[in-house]
Amino acid sequence: MKSPFHVYKFGGASVRDANAIRKVAAIVRASQDVKLLVVISAMGKTTNALERVVGHMKKGSDFRLELNEIRAYHQKVMTDLIPKGHSVWQDIDTQFKAIENQQTAGLSHDQLYDQVVSRGELMSTMIVSAFLESDGINTKWADVRTYIRTDDCYREGKVDWEESEKRISGIKSLLEEHVVITQGFLGGNTAGFTTTLGREGSDYTAAIFGSCLPAANVTIWKDVPGVMNADPKRIPDAVPFEELPFREAAEMTYYGASVIHPKTIKPLANRSIPLLVKNFDDPTLPGTVIHEVRIKNLPPLIVFKENQCLISCGVTDYTFIDEQQLSLIFNAISELNMKINVMQNSAISFSFCVDYREEKVQQLIEVLAKHFEVYYNTGLMLITVKNYDDKTYQAYRQRKGIILEQTSRSTLQLLIRN
Ligand code: ASP
Ligand code: MG
Repeated sequence: MKSPFHVYKFGGASVRDANAIRKVAAIVRASQDVKLLVVISAMGKTTNALERVVGHMKKGSDFRLELNEIRAYHQKVMTDLIPKGHSVWQDIDTQFKAIENQQTAGLSHDQLYDQVVSRGELMSTMIVSAFLESDGINTKWADVRTYIRTDDCYREGKVDWEESEKRISGIKSLLEEHVVITQGFLGGNTAGFTTTLGREGSDYTAAIFGSCLPAANVTIWKDVPGVMNADPKRIPDAVPFEELPFREAAEMTYYGASVIHPKTIKPLANRSIPLLVKNFDDPTLPGTVIHEVRIKNLPPLIVFKENQCLISCGVTDYTFIDEQQLSLIFNAISELNMKINVMQNSAISFSFCVDYREEKVQQLIEVLAKHFEVYYNTGLMLITVKNYDDKTYQAYRQRKGIILEQTSRSTLQLLIRN
């Protein structure tokens, strides 16, 4: 039995200007034979700009300059797409007024962040929805905060799956007649506040809808021909995969490939819903299908993760590193919600690599320094080569500046000085 629902996701780059939005309209228009839910991110770099506005609000400094730039940007895009008399102009104006009048008292930093930053997605979807409608596509704008329920963990909302699934079933009747446009990245909690799902979380939103509807498939439209075996900006002869097993795609995101948000795969894999990664600029390209499949001899897959920090804990006398000491280290890492990207131990020291967030790393080192002699290096890059063959294995091991190296049967990892 095939489900008739489809979910599309367009990221910030795919709605960054009027031309991009026209392309979105063309893709949506060509897909009107299916019941289509469209998830959209904030336009271009709006989320970063709104983060700066929140920074000003928190400090009590003037955010108007920053906000006016965001306003001018949105108005420019609208001018190119939508006649001045259209009600969406008023709607966008209301969003900016809401930011200007945002209460800060009594809100934690993260709670305030979500209330303000979320306006980027609210506005982009209003604009795209109004344009599609005026372009003759039967469109409905939906507020995702009434469908995706999360807990109170601002900036990292945990999805209440049972409640969200119940709510999302209410969107099915809308999809009979309309293309539904909704926001990526956002959720709502029981206290009536907006939450967000973590930066770049719109892919995850698409997966939540895909899983709950359930959809026949979910398509992420990107500025690359599909999932590539390496970042084409670093490796010009990178090639797209035609298809990938869910497991392989999940591991890629774990190692730091940014093509899909790491939380996207699980909900879809659990319900065997294929994830398609398609090229926004040329929808006729086949793209990549991520699904339940076995593939022999996948080509080597190379992932670069920058801004890494290697921390080494050495014993202060000649005792060996034992399990008790390891558990102490792991506890400290877990308390701070940090994630180990690669690790290695020797008789008298334990080394591990984490993303370098200065404040967190300093906190961690403070704890560890009570028990160990702690050294650390920053400015490192972690290179992961999955499914290496002889040629890539040799080539990467000859890189200069390697400070840690690890090989398993399928995976080579190198930490190098950048
Ligand atoms: N607009 C949000 C961000 O930039 C969510 C997303 O793009 O997926 O993080
Ligand atoms: Mg974005």
